[in-house]
Amino acid sequence: MKDKIQKNEEEWKKELTPEQYQVCRMKGTEPPFTGKYYNSKEPGMYLCAACGNELFDSNTKFESGTGWPSFYTPISEENVETEEDMGYGMRRTEVMCSRCGAHLGHVFPDGPRPTGLRYCINSVALKLDPKDKK
Ligand SMILES: [Zn+2]
Repeated sequence: MKDKIQKNEEEWKKELTPEQYQVCRMKGTEPPFTGKYYNSKEPGMYLCAACGNELFDSNTKFESGTGWPSFYTPISEENVETEEDMGYGMRRTEVMCSRCGAHLGHVFPDGPRPTGLRYCINSVALKLDPKDKK
């Protein structure tokens, strides 16, 4: 079990941009086709924007046409948490960072092989760590 990051809302508000705060802490959703990464094909590791936890490998990113970055699997089941979300009259599964609890997006059962899952994630909740930088 990794150490969880616990911060109060005031601390998060100070550390995150207003857009990040809205998505990561208030469970908001960025408008489609506006995010930094929805169309990105740059290789690297997508980290949690709030705490730097490794979440998704660019190898598992695919073109979903939804306007949000989409992945068919997280790098590890342990790095994300999922929870039933009944908000907005829809039954969806919420995806969160397992380390800091940041809201990332939702997972849907209509993704490509091999998992059949589509992790639909807000760009603003992610930070790409490009591969060639290292
Ligand atoms: Zn996090």
